[in-house]
Amino acid sequence: MQKCKDIIFASHNKGKISEIREILSPLGLNVLSGEDLELPDVEETGKTFEENAYIKALAAAKKQNIPCFADDSGLCVDAMGGRPGVYTARYAPNRDFDKGMDKLLNELEETNSGNRAAHFSCVIVLAYPDGRYKSFEGRVDGSIAPRKSGNAGFGYDPIFIPTGFNRSFAEFDSEEKNKISHRGRALQKFVQYLSDEYQ
Ligand code: IMP
Repeated sequence: MQKCKDIIFASHNKGKISEIREILSPLGLNVLSGEDLELPDVEETGKTFEENAYIKALAAAKKQNIPCFADDSGLCVDAMGGRPGVYTARYAPNRDFDKGMDKLLNELEETNSGNRAAHFSCVIVLAYPDGRYKSFEGRVDGSIAPRKSGNAGFGYDPIFIPTGFNRSFAEFDSEEKNKISHRGRALQKFVQYLSDEYQ
């Protein structure tokens, strides 16, 4: 771990940055992000979580000339054919997630399927300035709640109930969420890789 004290997370998303910092800081890694550095703003033109994470990580790695990582994540709802998926951030009108959740609850209701199964997916890509990369995937299964509840977390947390629980992600504290979340799971694999690479 010694060689990798500073690590760059190519993101401007405050919710993600604080979750990732909470997991990597105890390992002695200082997470720098778009809040600390001028990182390029890139268009997420990929069709998969991995493609989008690679686009973001590579643009940052080329600019900073050191390996950088990025994640791409989203909510996939079975009865909506896996949507919004890679378009989850853009699905919310003006990136207002409160409105995004209302939109999703209405759209799901309109399917009349009675199937509320959903999952969050996350892919983390560590990209090197020369274009090489490694990717790490995490997923958490659950269901879409009938209504929003809870104030913690970010994004669509208030309407996502992970399997085996009867409360939404927005009613979890961050430590509890990180243990089972899509991002937490992808990060566990990423951390394992960093430990093997940099020990
Ligand atoms: P992106 O990965 O930056 O493209 O954004 C994905 C979007 O999915 C985020 O802006 C959130 O709205 C949503 N999302 C991703 N992970 C979570 C999570 O852990 N909780 C709630 N919403 C999430």
